[in-house]
Amino acid sequence: MPSFVILEKCDGCKGQDKTACQYICPNDLMVLNTETMKAYNRDAQMCWECYNCVKICPQQAMAVRGYADFVPMGASITPLRGTEDIMWTVKFRNNTLKRFKFPIRTTPEGSAVPDGGYKTAPEADDLKSPLLFTEPESLRVAELPTLKK
Ligand code: SF4
Ligand code: SF4
Repeated sequence: MPSFVILEKCDGCKGQDKTACQYICPNDLMVLNTETMKAYNRDAQMCWECYNCVKICPQQAMAVRGYADFVPMGASITPLRGTEDIMWTVKFRNNTLKRFKFPIRTTPEGSAVPDGGYKTAPEADDLKSPLLFTEPESLRVAELPTLKK
């Protein structure tokens, strides 16, 4: 089941240029209806249920199927994102509520270094290398064995 918007909760992100769900969807699926100021998923078949929109929505207005490995059948799952952790509320079929909290970061917000500090800029020749971007430095070896031509 793809994500869907709970219309009563969606406030269109208060008319900002881009809504949070539009910003975060890796498949560019979320659209804002500018007449109703409600968002919707424009191509349900393309949604891979990644949960990004569900987690970022400030109004908790995005719903998606809860995977069976952490939400039993018939239950729903709602996240509440903080700056350091995320609180999941599971509502079971019999209306029992359970909450669990996961940390989402170990460093201060805004301090992540995208390249991990290994390189300042990729080089064109990196594309020809079988090594990953940070190798061999991240493996703490001087060199990795590769096939020599
Ligand atoms: S992020 Fe939430 S509140 Fe904002 S437009 Fe999307 S569904 Fe509506
Ligand atoms: S669950 Fe993921 S792929 Fe689906 S609409 Fe939300 S952000 Fe996009």
